[in-house]
Amino acid sequence: MPTGIGNIYADEALWRARNHGERIAAKLTRPALRVLLSEVQTVMSEALRAGGTSFDALYVNGQSGYFERSLDAYGREDESCRRCGAPIRREKFMNRLSYSCLRCQPRPRR
Ligand SMILES: [Zn+2]
Repeated sequence: MPTGIGNIYADEALWRARNHGERIAAKLTRPALRVLLSEVQTVMSEALRAGGTSFDALYVNGQSGYFERSLDAYGREDESCRRCGAPIRREKFMNRLSYSCLRCQPRPRR
């Protein structure tokens, strides 16, 4: 399921950056974008440190490692946010399912 890899990165990084995906598509300030990109790097390096040579390998063998223990947003629908306790929501975003916290990652106003 290789198409899921980017989704996991994105959801985890957005959660850490307390940002909502729709704001990325719209207008994100430069500082906010920097935060987000650095969170993406953190997620990736943590995943690799958790025991893989590549993220693809981790994903394939994911059951035993990183994905079971370390995901804060992805795949945690209706579970409590580890930061604030609000439920994690699952919503459709840009033709994929996205996981985010109702409270930490408010949706932008239109
Ligand atoms: Zn939260």
